[in-house]
Amino acid sequence: MKQIMRMSRLYAPTLKEDPSDADIVSHRLLLRAGMIRKTASGVYTFLPLGKRVLMKIEQIVRDEMDAIGAQEVLMPALQPAELWHESGRWNDYGPELMRLQDRHEHGFCLGPTHEELITDLVRNELRSYKQLPMTLYQIQSKFRDEIRPRFGLLRSREFIMKDAYSFHTDRESLQQTYDEMSEAYGRICTRLGLVYRPVQADPGQIGGSVTCEYHALAESGEAELVTCECGYAANSEIAECIPHPEEYPQDELKKITTPGVHTIEDLAQHLSCKANQLVKAMVGIDAEGTPIALFVPGDHELNEIKVERTFPGFTLMTDEQLRDLGLPKGSIGCVGLPKGVRVGADRSLQDVAHWAVGANEDGYHYLGAQCGRDFEVDVWADLCTACAGDSCPDCGAPLEVARGIEVGQVFQLGDKYSKTMGATYSDAQGVEHPFQMGCYGIGISRALAAIVEQHNDENGIKWPFAVAPAHICILPLSVGDDTVQPAAERLAKELSELGIEVVIDDRKERPGVKFAEADLMGWPMQIVVGKRGLSNGVYEVKNRLTGEKNDVTFAQYKEALAFAHRATKPARTFFDQAKTFVESQD
Ligand code: ATP
Ligand code: MG
Repeated sequence: MKQIMRMSRLYAPTLKEDPSDADIVSHRLLLRAGMIRKTASGVYTFLPLGKRVLMKIEQIVRDEMDAIGAQEVLMPALQPAELWHESGRWNDYGPELMRLQDRHEHGFCLGPTHEELITDLVRNELRSYKQLPMTLYQIQSKFRDEIRPRFGLLRSREFIMKDAYSFHTDRESLQQTYDEMSEAYGRICTRLGLVYRPVQADPGQIGGSVTCEYHALAESGEAELVTCECGYAANSEIAECIPHPEEYPQDELKKITTPGVHTIEDLAQHLSCKANQLVKAMVGIDAEGTPIALFVPGDHELNEIKVERTFPGFTLMTDEQLRDLGLPKGSIGCVGLPKGVRVGADRSLQDVAHWAVGANEDGYHYLGAQCGRDFEVDVWADLCTACAGDSCPDCGAPLEVARGIEVGQVFQLGDKYSKTMGATYSDAQGVEHPFQMGCYGIGISRALAAIVEQHNDENGIKWPFAVAPAHICILPLSVGDDTVQPAAERLAKELSELGIEVVIDDRKERPGVKFAEADLMGWPMQIVVGKRGLSNGVYEVKNRLTGEKNDVTFAQYKEALAFAHRATKPARTFFDQAKTFVESQD
């Protein structure tokens, strides 16, 4: 029998008003429903209901990890700096790494991720090819001093992550575990009730080359995804970009006056043309201090990750640096650039014979600028962020754009950490090789918020059964009444004996307050026990997920209960059956 939760005892302080600093729905509702509280910027406490959901998510993740043979460990959050020096990430990780010193002035950090620690853990003890492959995982708090903690649990500075690490003799074995992990991630997202998409992605700080992100689709998501009907999906950060720039009809080089024109929008209006008929310029400096002018179609944005790949260390020039170089912001172009400026252009512009572009003189632009005749390009490359309407790199159809919350990411690391940290195994001939490694993260606390982003309405949260803090809320309308209250208590007892998680609102509150809070907290099922219903021989059952309300007669309830007693299935099945049963009686 499950313990019955009592609203009269529950520590879940609800808020009537939206908290002013909560800008998205999950943050707002989790605060209002008394599930989390902010302790500091990007640092949260989970109250009893939030903690219950967290544990359910963890259990689903644990289940799926165990099912593919991963073994749970628990590593410390406090990590010695030496390990990070060994991998080189003490410097590379930057200000996001929370660093501290102990009383002996030894350097430590609070782990944002655990590649170093786990590599150190196994390097002297996981020795033989016979022990491989091996996957270890943990569920634990992570720390990242995010530049902009926001959106509550979605981007916090302390958060809970499941991180797994696998060790292999070769790439084939790594690929196999990576595939199993990817499938497990799909099952986890489904079990959490998330509408999700696996997408091609950038490895970022973690490193490696083969990687995939799992995104919960949501308007509030920080990530922009491009997708295609053919199944292609990628984070727009890295998606190959195939834009469709068009030519502005002008063959000869012609300088035109464009007073007050400083943006592509201004210029498009001035010339009565589309943005994709114009060429946009950005000027920066690379790691060597060489000035570089980059040109992209007017309807596209320069993509930082791609630019970094082609021009390492590229940073945009300040207005002052531009002035020193003699370039007028808002009118920069490819004709007559100062000596020593390298020119890079998006490869799609190779197909545009004549460019409409700045004239390097304030208030002037060129039409008809022709590559080879009027200017040269040093490097053609994919430099833009893909957007809706660009061609799908796989099938050529127009791409669509969606927003997503990254809930997980899987990586093939190869020997990045094992090589630098000297973690090797010996093969059948006794020869040492660095491990092939994989790593696999899921944001448990971020997933919790992502679920709320996808499952809510104007009244509150609608928890999917699998993660709900309890399955059914029983709402006696008049507590203290000598028929209503005992009936509600009996119901709670009967249901909890079935293994269903029940909460009973045994507070002396007005029905309106109880209904509002039950909706806010998002119990998937509510059973209202009222005087009138009882005298008519019915309970009113509300499905919070669908909004359906049904009067369930005592006989129907008993039948469903008997059915559930016979069935060994969980609560969800019980209620699906009950609902079918009720409907079949209509
Ligand atoms: P993001 O790009 O959103 O900053 P990330 O790619 O840096 O995330 P990973 O290193 O891949 O994150 O970490 C694994 C998982 O941990 C992420 O998929 C995400 O679910 C979660 N996570 C990462 N950063 C945060 C954060 N600041 N707050 C909450 N969860 C996070
Ligand atoms: Mg990631």
